[in-house]
Amino acid sequence: MFHFQFNYLIILTVIYGNQAIDYRYHNYTEMTSILQDLAAQYPTKASLVEIGKSQGGKSLWAMALSSYAPNRHVLLRPEVKYIANMHGNEVVGLEVLLYLVDYLLTSNDTQANQLMNRTRIWIMPSMNPDGLEQSSVGDCTSNTGRYNLNNIDLNRNFPDYYGAALQSSTRAPETSAIMSWLAKVPFVLSANYHGGAFVINTPYDRYYVGSDSASDDDDIYQMIARSYINLTQEVNENCLSEFIDTAFVTRGADWYEVIGGMQDYGYLNYGTIELTMEISCCKYPGGNLLASYWNYNRDAMLQHLFQAQRGVKGLILNEYSKPIPSTQVMIDNRQPVVNVTPLGEFWRILLPGTYTLKVLYQSNTIYSRQIKIGNSLSPLNLTIIISSTVYLPYSLMTTQALSSTGVTPENSQNLLLYLCSLFFISFSC
Ligand SMILES: [Zn+2]
Repeated sequence: MFHFQFNYLIILTVIYGNQAIDYRYHNYTEMTSILQDLAAQYPTKASLVEIGKSQGGKSLWAMALSSYAPNRHVLLRPEVKYIANMHGNEVVGLEVLLYLVDYLLTSNDTQANQLMNRTRIWIMPSMNPDGLEQSSVGDCTSNTGRYNLNNIDLNRNFPDYYGAALQSSTRAPETSAIMSWLAKVPFVLSANYHGGAFVINTPYDRYYVGSDSASDDDDIYQMIARSYINLTQEVNENCLSEFIDTAFVTRGADWYEVIGGMQDYGYLNYGTIELTMEISCCKYPGGNLLASYWNYNRDAMLQHLFQAQRGVKGLILNEYSKPIPSTQVMIDNRQPVVNVTPLGEFWRILLPGTYTLKVLYQSNTIYSRQIKIGNSLSPLNLTIIISSTVYLPYSLMTTQALSSTGVTPENSQNLLLYLCSLFFISFSC
């Protein structure tokens, strides 16, 4: 046994060491091996999690990376994520994310190290490994491999915030896995890598009100998307003129309307700043271009992850230093509001400026203050204490009344904590 482990370590060192993963396409089995080997080689910095299974029974892998405790949430450490290959035939993102995992674990880049010290970075190279298996190198435009095994387009399969009908009434296991993940981890920032165009797509993906595609956070989205684009360089692209009018940034609905997209789901339900990156005109270009795509996106990806450090974060506690259940944070009158976590934390990415921060308890404002945000990649860090005498009177509302205030199954954990506090039971219940 010892002999086997010894050899195994030697092999790992030879293959990876401080070398980048080779620039070629990796199939599902190879991708799995790379992630498992890196997690084994860097156990203090990488934790590989199966967040669910595909329709075909393949593991949906997400690698959690941080310079400490990658396997758990740390109080006030922001959580960010990158997902790729949601459409199985759009494959550049998968490889670029594999290289990013390797880079974050092995490079001496100061930026990469700072990111690892200050965030937990989740990377899911393939959300649709069954579709990947059906796709072919060189297929730039077809839809073969786009869907999951049940022929469902995963980016049309998330519940619409206002209940609009979806293409398929069946919820794919891949979709369910992401939904459970989002309910468990309080993601602050996210990007989803696609191919077949060269554009960054921001919310909203559909026209919820009239023909207005702009969200209340459009200022944030525009800044973050343009920062990404500004750091990229042209590589073998021949479809650049296609989106010249928008300077490569478009709101999803203005490009083409999507119902059931993952981006709007994450943003509207959790306040996560979600972008969709279309990074290659060809969906599955020749493997000889992969090094270029990596070089083209690397600095932009790192800088993008830093955006989770903008704005404000903090704790909302009562006078006993306990979290207050069922609270949300609202900035000015912006929607969506963000849910405060069961530990009392919140994060809100903001551009420089002066804002009103409000704490909502069952939709009632129980606290308000002005905050001033500077142009810094170090967030304003607040601890807000709200006496129980301020919010407990609202607890006299019946649970029936509570259900009408918008407590959804997604924040049912908050509801549980709320009920615990209602009956004066400890928070560990
Ligand atoms: Zn796509």
